[in-house]
Amino acid sequence: MSPSLATDTKAVIDRLPHIISTFPVPDAFHQIAEELKSVFHFDRLSLTLISEDKNSAAIEFLYSTYSDSHLPAGSVLPLNSSDLGEVLSTANPVFVHDTSKGRCDTDSLLLKDGICSRVSMPLFYGGKIIGVCCMGSRQPFNFPESQVCIWKEIAPFVSVVAENARLAWKLKESAGILAVETAERKRIEESLCKLSLTVEQSPGAIIVTDTKGAIEYVNPKFTQVTGYSAAEVAGKNPRILKLGEKSSEEYKRLWETLTAGKEWRGEFHNKKKDGKLYWASASLSPVKNAEGVITHFIGIQEDITVRKHMEEELKSLNELLKQRASDRAVQLMESEEKFRKISASANDAIIMLDDDERISYWNAAAEKIFSYSKEEAMGKSLHTLIIPVVFQSRHLEGFKEFQMTGQGPVIGKTVELTALRRDGGEFPIELSLSGVQIKGKWNAIGIIRDITERKILNARLLAEIEGRKKVQERLKHLVKELERSNAELQQFAYVASHDLQEPLRMVSSYTQLLGRRYKGKLDADADEFITFAVDGAARMQMLINDLLEYSRVGTKVKAFEKVNCLSVFDHAVSNLRIAIEESGAVITHDEFPTVMADTLQFTQLLQNLLGNAIKFRGKETPRIHISVAQKEGEWLFSIRDNGIGIDPQYVDRIFVIFQRLHSKEEYPGSGIGLAICKKIVERHGGLIWVESELGKGATFHFTIPVVN
Ligand code: ADP
Repeated sequence: MSPSLATDTKAVIDRLPHIISTFPVPDAFHQIAEELKSVFHFDRLSLTLISEDKNSAAIEFLYSTYSDSHLPAGSVLPLNSSDLGEVLSTANPVFVHDTSKGRCDTDSLLLKDGICSRVSMPLFYGGKIIGVCCMGSRQPFNFPESQVCIWKEIAPFVSVVAENARLAWKLKESAGILAVETAERKRIEESLCKLSLTVEQSPGAIIVTDTKGAIEYVNPKFTQVTGYSAAEVAGKNPRILKLGEKSSEEYKRLWETLTAGKEWRGEFHNKKKDGKLYWASASLSPVKNAEGVITHFIGIQEDITVRKHMEEELKSLNELLKQRASDRAVQLMESEEKFRKISASANDAIIMLDDDERISYWNAAAEKIFSYSKEEAMGKSLHTLIIPVVFQSRHLEGFKEFQMTGQGPVIGKTVELTALRRDGGEFPIELSLSGVQIKGKWNAIGIIRDITERKILNARLLAEIEGRKKVQERLKHLVKELERSNAELQQFAYVASHDLQEPLRMVSSYTQLLGRRYKGKLDADADEFITFAVDGAARMQMLINDLLEYSRVGTKVKAFEKVNCLSVFDHAVSNLRIAIEESGAVITHDEFPTVMADTLQFTQLLQNLLGNAIKFRGKETPRIHISVAQKEGEWLFSIRDNGIGIDPQYVDRIFVIFQRLHSKEEYPGSGIGLAICKKIVERHGGLIWVESELGKGATFHFTIPVVN
């Protein structure tokens, strides 16, 4: 060692303690490199630090006399690179005098920098190799023993710088980790804050329970929905909301799902604090820690009461709709079925035409009436099939109007027309036509009745009516004729009986004179003959009187007036006074009405009937009762007696003039009384008849209209 180098080395070693305390580390390294430069002749000084786990090595600092190094600071070197590997395994310096000889990959890069010789020296700290200091030169240079000694003195200082660098690096690394951790914590805090806000402001009610189900937390929404404060529910089981609709099995299943670590979703019908009910859609799930152990349960409920009500409403609406639809379907089916049956069994042809005048429906009756089967008729134009040629153009014109407007000359009407049968025969029909719109097009429905028989019947009826009219006219004429001849006859009877009375009185008085004067003076036969003649004349007189009286009923008439039947009755009774007294007859009656009558004739009517009741009495005292009843616009008078009665076979005969059932000797009379009664009753618009049996009395009924 030259004296100057020794001086320099000493000065360097003196300065180094100050340099190593220099910060930052790169500055210290550079100062050291500058100091070393005065002792060693290198062009490039690098400090490579080895990682603690000895897995990698990187050039930490580089000092070079040239720029643009191919192995700059930061280059990561392979640990098995020959220099590094050797230094690490031997813990001794490694000398390479000629890099061009090529020992490893880094050599080529150093060569590119012009480094041809180098020495790599281990740096120890705390007894461990922490790095390698490599000095390279562009000149081949020797590292004599003297320099090795100097290096050994300087190496501890370089090692301190290396250790400082390592510590600085570690510090930086820790600072980096710390920064990352701080950022992560901040992020977690932020997200926790967000989460907390989310939970607090969640629109869903949130419950957190421990693993036994005791509530640990509820959010404000829960309080709002249920009415329970957080303090009120703390430690309680969410069961406090339970309504009791869900079965215990369901709750059991829910709990099993949760404790098995799975989520449970479903709906609850819950009870609020105030007892009101609400529907909630809930999602319950377990909360697990990093080890997968369940630590809590969390429940999120959404109030779906409104939705539920709407759903229920919708459901019932749906049900209603479904019901209506099915009712409608049934109705449709029924009406279709009905239509099918009606149409199949109808006697009238039912025909439907599409908007093109083609037949789209043809029922069984149409087949029968027109003699075309359904298959033959369907799709054909109606006019070609059943309308006589002369009417076709008119029909087509009408149909054209119908096609456009749905209206036509016969739409909505029932008309009589002539139709054509398959055999070409024409016949009368009655057509009822209507229009229906199907998919916007007018279709026609015709109901056709074959009225051939009706026409024939009508013609027959007309003829019959005509005939009857003639008969009626003839009858009218006859009645008039009869009335005329009746009146004439009556007049004749009256005139005859009236005019016969005079000559008869003569015959009667002269035969009586003959009798008085010549009785006993002629022979016995003559006496007998005279007696016969007197009797005959007397009887004839009586008959003529009766006849006159009878004919008077029709001729000597008085206008009807309001008659009080009681006064009529009193009059009749007073006329019959002697007969009543002789027989001791007892006559009773109902309340009498007032009627419209000819007073004289009505008196005669009652008198005749009461007189007969007394005359034809039996052994008992006559008991007579007149009952009166009102029936269908008529008064019914019934005169009931307890006399000898009448054999029912003669009940009609006794009303005929001069018809009697007894001889004069048995009961006096001429048989005119009831004939007169009949004539009076009929003249007043009523009827007379008798009900009786022999020996059981008789009841004579007559009617007379009620006075309005
Ligand atoms: P006459 O009383 O003069 O015989 P009527 O014309 O009054 O004639 O009666 C006809 C007949 O009807 C009577 O002869 C009698 O046989 C029968 N007859 C009428 N009224 C009664 C009566 N109340 N009871 C039984 N028979 C009667």
